[in-house]
Amino acid sequence: MTVLPLTASSQTISPARLDALKTELMKEIDKQQKSTQEMVDMVFSFGELGFQEVETSRYLTGILQKNGFKVEQGIAGIPTAWTAKWGSGKPFIAIGSDIDCIPKASQKPGVAYHDPIIEGAPGHGEGHNAGEPLNITAVLALKKIMEREKIPGTIMLWPGVAEEQLGSKAYYVRDGYFKDVDACIFTHVGNNMGTSYGDGGGNGMISVKFNFEGEAAHAAGAPWKGRSGLDAVELMNLAWNFHREHMETTQRSHYVISDGGDQPNVVPSKASVWYYFRERSYPKIMKMYKDGIKMAEAAAKMTDTKMTYEVLGSAWPGHFNQPIAEALYENIKAVGLPEWSPDDQVLAKALQKELGSPEEGLSATLSGLAKPAISLSAGGGGSDDIADVSWNVPTVVLRFPSNIPGLPGHHWANAIAMATPIAHKGVTAGAKAEAMTLLDLFTNPDLIKGAKTYFTDVQTKEVKYVPLISKTDKPPISLNKKIMEEFRPEMKKYYYNPAKYKTYLEQLGIKYPTVKKD
Ligand SMILES: [Zn+2]
Repeated sequence: MTVLPLTASSQTISPARLDALKTELMKEIDKQQKSTQEMVDMVFSFGELGFQEVETSRYLTGILQKNGFKVEQGIAGIPTAWTAKWGSGKPFIAIGSDIDCIPKASQKPGVAYHDPIIEGAPGHGEGHNAGEPLNITAVLALKKIMEREKIPGTIMLWPGVAEEQLGSKAYYVRDGYFKDVDACIFTHVGNNMGTSYGDGGGNGMISVKFNFEGEAAHAAGAPWKGRSGLDAVELMNLAWNFHREHMETTQRSHYVISDGGDQPNVVPSKASVWYYFRERSYPKIMKMYKDGIKMAEAAAKMTDTKMTYEVLGSAWPGHFNQPIAEALYENIKAVGLPEWSPDDQVLAKALQKELGSPEEGLSATLSGLAKPAISLSAGGGGSDDIADVSWNVPTVVLRFPSNIPGLPGHHWANAIAMATPIAHKGVTAGAKAEAMTLLDLFTNPDLIKGAKTYFTDVQTKEVKYVPLISKTDKPPISLNKKIMEEFRPEMKKYYYNPAKYKTYLEQLGIKYPTVKKD
């Protein structure tokens, strides 16, 4: 049944018994569909930006505490970060998922066009509301079996705080929260169910804010007395954009002017530009980072301003564990994709039409087990700081099918499915695959051993992890504070009330699906 080179004798339970327990796990997770839906809808309704996931963390840790998990709040100097542990002894398995959302992505679920719940408010336009509900569903089902069967081991749940800022995971690693962990399963929303191993082909990155300080002056009355921080920002950006011509095609770099001054008639004494520098390997990321500093220093010189910079986030390029990915993929195949209803397909196709994407509906066949990227001079793209965990502990990412194919990402459209039956069914499917793989890890010492051998002999044989953050960098926990202060009072009125409404769709009075009439 299994594709791994395992000796049956080293398993703590027989393969037949393991199969029976996996069948039981699937049934148990099906029975939990109501609570899964409530968790997915609840976190969707909170819609909290990075470092401000106050309600989300309170809610999730509350559920875990009620179920016998020991919770530690505020880890790594991040108020909304936590760990929740249950069990005892080895193996020690960590399970994580992100919890933050996207600015200006407020969107009514189940409606196939742009229709915000609150105009301009944050929303789950990445689908990070579904991952922790999946993890909790999986571990609560697994816990019952582990207790009854007296299977030893420790489970630790943890949240990806401020993933959109790549803001937390390198700090968890630096501060030792993964020190004794044997393996980690991370879950992330997708539009299919799958996993991968080896070099993921994506970029790592460092997020840096450059601040320039000059001198204010009346911009008409005495402009010669002023020195503009904004001039420095613009010159730095100009230099960087010329530099792009001479960079490798795998790089991604982008910026926002996070402070461009206050009003035109005052020479901006202060200005800031916030960059993400992304590349395929640690040395290439560091080269970009140093080039950026050089240009910032030059811009400061040209404008006679003072420059300081701060690291706001970081992520290594991802590399994932082959033996665990293979075990996970066997379980993914056993679970299969959810059965989509005609309503689910109507919503998906209407949204795809709205966005000008191929009207293919929801995923019908499982994506395969993705193979490693071929070379460091190919690929490039997004980043996820789960990679910092993956370079310290054998790690895999389970992508689960809770969204619609063909969407832009980081966008209101990506929120539409996330509190509908599409998301709920995708989470149930993902929870099954995760719970079964956890059972593999807890009952098969050879799987952990194989994972560690891959980690030492293949993954880290030549590449050694050097953190992109320093020992003294601090997580920028005030990020997004002002935005949440502005929107939270209005958003509170829309928090999901499961005591009164079966679903969040029902609470919002949305007919599922709502699509444009031709
Ligand atoms: Zn994400």
